[in-house]
Amino acid sequence: MEIIINTSIVLVTFILTEFSAWANHKYIMHGVMWYFHADHHKKDHKSWFERNDLFFIIYAVPSWLLIMYGMMNQNAWYTWVGFGILLYGLAYFVVHDLVIHQRFKVLTKTKNVYVLALRRAHKMHHKNTGKEGGESFGMLIIKQKYIQDALKKSKTQYAH
Ligand SMILES: [Zn+2]
Ligand SMILES: [Zn+2]
Repeated sequence: MEIIINTSIVLVTFILTEFSAWANHKYIMHGVMWYFHADHHKKDHKSWFERNDLFFIIYAVPSWLLIMYGMMNQNAWYTWVGFGILLYGLAYFVVHDLVIHQRFKVLTKTKNVYVLALRRAHKMHHKNTGKEGGESFGMLIIKQKYIQDALKKSKTQYAH
């Protein structure tokens, strides 16, 4: 029973973190913290690192504290909240930084419809290089139209 509860806490936290990342991206990163996010849109820097990478730390700290204090308290329920945030952080790094932005070259020739749709949705976010306006602030949850476009694209491009 405990494993079901703990797994559910991890999964629910994971989903809530996607919504939190969406809200954070839309209202804070494109708001008061734009200074730190701007270089991710403008790509006007030579370094592999971006000021935007700061946001990894912002999510890593609560995750680490929850896991550490949770484990010190007989794996209290919030330990699993910490692991949910950690799991989302890893997923974010893989999807946003590797699959979409290709900080390391992976999945360059993928035909996977979800991957194509994720890339398209996020590219639409990046089409706008400024602070205001823009769309697709979420990462894993994307608009239906991008899935449909990707389905069409994968059919026409790869039909032999
Ligand atoms: Zn942005
Ligand atoms: Zn991006």
